[in-house]
Amino acid sequence: MKDIIEKLLVKLGEDPKREGLARTPERVEKSLKFLTQGYEQDPVKTISSAIFEEKYDDMIIVRDIEIFSMCEHHMLPFFGRCHVAYIPNGKIVGLSKIPRMVDIFAKRLQVQERLTHQIAHTLYDTIKPRGVGVVIEAKHMCMVMRGVEKQNSYATTSSMLGVLRKSLSTREEFLRLVQKSSF
Ligand SMILES: [Zn+2]
Repeated sequence: MKDIIEKLLVKLGEDPKREGLARTPERVEKSLKFLTQGYEQDPVKTISSAIFEEKYDDMIIVRDIEIFSMCEHHMLPFFGRCHVAYIPNGKIVGLSKIPRMVDIFAKRLQVQERLTHQIAHTLYDTIKPRGVGVVIEAKHMCMVMRGVEKQNSYATTSSMLGVLRKSLSTREEFLRLVQKSSF
């Protein structure tokens, strides 16, 4: 990767030998590997490692999960908050596993729409709950920095499965509870 990044610096009109850039290829490689480490991690395994039988059958919400990802069209960051809800059907998952799973998907090249769907479907397929809802609000640097959009615009995506898709009142309960977001 280092060679390619050095070539890229030349293409951009830079001198990769100057002091400030001397170790940049190395740093960029390290940083890119960290930001895409989700390719080497298994989100299904993460969820499966902490599933418990439980009679609780009301909505469980993990709110304000911080998301840092990179858009696959420009390889620029997008970041924001993710809210995940599910209504169990005999099984619950250890709460910390949800942000962990979100992070695995976020640390890949993404579009926000697919990220939202992958989170919802992974939870739905793994613990087979009665319903799943996922909302992501994010700011995209490819829009902000390139002047495509106003600096304060957020993109919102959602994915509703099972009862959260079918029942309007259940979906509204979820959306009302996450609207109080500090975001
Ligand atoms: Zn983009």
